[in-house]
Amino acid sequence: MENCIFCKIIKGEIPSNKVFENKKIVAFYDINPKAKVHILIIPKIHIESIKDLEEKDKSLIGELILATQRIAREKNLGGYKIVVNVGREGGQIVNHLHVHLLSGDVVLGV
Ligand code: 5GP
Ligand code: ZN
Repeated sequence: MENCIFCKIIKGEIPSNKVFENKKIVAFYDINPKAKVHILIIPKIHIESIKDLEEKDKSLIGELILATQRIAREKNLGGYKIVVNVGREGGQIVNHLHVHLLSGDVVLGV
């Protein structure tokens, strides 16, 4: 989608520090980390938020969580927090669905 920062990252129009990529998912380091490790895991298709999920997205969401687990394993994270902000009142700034993976010096919110 035009003017979506994360769609631009997916297309390589904005640089990012990628840690994982497959056909459906990309993960990269957050530009403004809120913990020692802060990675964003996103679907390649533009879905705005959890609010916009449909029945057909069921397996994609599962894959998003499994990709998160896989990255955490690869990074040898002993423990972590996963956060998904939903909508402006839920702290979502970028309107492209993303999972925050946080580890080390994790504060309550993100
Ligand atoms: P939200 O508040 O929408 O859940 O989180 C958006 C996250 O995206 C923030 O943690 C912010 O630091 C990160 N972010 C915003 N723009 C960019 C960018 O251009 N590159 C990267 N790597 N992260 C970004
Ligand atoms: Zn997008």
